[in-house]
Amino acid sequence: MGKLMIIGCGGVASVAIHKCCQNSDVFEEIMIASRTVSKCDALKEKLEKITKTKITTAKVDADNVEELTALIKSYGPDAVLNVALPYQDLTIMDACLEAGVDYIDTANYEPEDTDDPAWREIYEKRCEEKGFSAYFDYSWQWAYQKKFEEKGLTALLGTGFDPGVTSVFAAYAKKHYFDEIHTIDILDCNGGDHGYPFATNFNPEINLREVSAPGSYMENGKWIEIPAMSIKREYNFEGVGMKDMYLLHHEEIEALGRNMPEVKRIRFFMTFGQSYLTHMKCLENVGMLSTTPIDFNGTKIVPIQFLKELLPDPASLGPRTVGKTNIGCIFTGIKDGKEKTLYIYNVCDHQECYKEVQSQAISYTTGVPAMIGASMVLEGKWKKPGVFTTDEFDPDPYMEALNKWGLPWVVDENPVLVD
Ligand code: NDP
Repeated sequence: MGKLMIIGCGGVASVAIHKCCQNSDVFEEIMIASRTVSKCDALKEKLEKITKTKITTAKVDADNVEELTALIKSYGPDAVLNVALPYQDLTIMDACLEAGVDYIDTANYEPEDTDDPAWREIYEKRCEEKGFSAYFDYSWQWAYQKKFEEKGLTALLGTGFDPGVTSVFAAYAKKHYFDEIHTIDILDCNGGDHGYPFATNFNPEINLREVSAPGSYMENGKWIEIPAMSIKREYNFEGVGMKDMYLLHHEEIEALGRNMPEVKRIRFFMTFGQSYLTHMKCLENVGMLSTTPIDFNGTKIVPIQFLKELLPDPASLGPRTVGKTNIGCIFTGIKDGKEKTLYIYNVCDHQECYKEVQSQAISYTTGVPAMIGASMVLEGKWKKPGVFTTDEFDPDPYMEALNKWGLPWVVDENPVLVD
């Protein structure tokens, strides 16, 4: 049916590429284009023996719009799937506009250099106006709405698990179970154990920036920001058991808050063990999470980037990680005049993922929805001019695809609520 260019060849990309190759009817041809082409070539060599999908590879610097535009034009894909880093979102969107192809990603824009004065000025204004201080937000990509509309192109933002599937769960709950949704709690539990004292499950730089930032949630259309890790709850997760979880800022709160303004409160919780939190606090206290470059023996280094080099590569965690993830959303609201509660979640087993695609469940739960989002666009099921998040389309074909491609979900109409 179609041709997809995939940018990036890390943990999430590897799963998305495996899944595209399982879905050759939709993905007849793919190009894997990334900074280190040897990783793309190695994956191609492994997969071309077992797939009908025709795979090509290329080296590209996705920060360079001209270079990327030329590559897109020469390959001529129907869409580009960005599974590089959030730093590249805007340059890849620019190249897609220039080349006239649809755009898909899994995480909203954040700048690599948070000391850039031009970016900081806008960021500080946004912090004041909106009331949350995360480095990432949707404003940069929503600003492309008109450009994509005018070119008749689709940009699908944030089709990972969270964001991505969680927002599809919200659209599905709204469509099939509620007349009004009043609260949404998104719960992300990783019950996996990789045996290392400290490692992150996806790109360490992006992950540590996210979890060390202040938490925030939305209530009655307003952001409420709290110190990092200062709201803690316990929850008994199906397939995992009792876990501590902490309220974090997360990007789907922003999109759901805009697109479902009737929802009175939206919160996001993620589970962390005490050892992870102690390591993170210590690294933060000594300055290792800083994004500001320092001078070391005449060389400029960014502490968090140096730390990334020391930590285990998330892609290497696959064989060692045992246990399950459980990610989903708890909704409360009204149906037919009566109060209603609902929990939709997926349980995923790290070792099962490894057996299937040689990755742990965090990459798997992101890479599968990345493939599904790309297939929705290529198949024309989710295609309209403009820039959209996953809650803005018909959730039904996506929910069906989750069951088909390895992330089956469960509906519980009598869940324990989070206080
Ligand atoms: P990795 O660091 O494993 O992979 C990133 C890949 O992008 C690498 O192959 C890297 O190249 C490549 N890359 C980086 N910069 C450039 C560039 N300038 N030009 C071309 N290629 C580049 O990250 P992950 O796979 O862990 O994460 C990928 C994305 O998924 C991130 O945006 C992350 O935020 C998102 N994510 C989303 C989740 C969700 O549920 N929505 C959950 C987890 C992650 P090289 O190989 O040379 O390093």
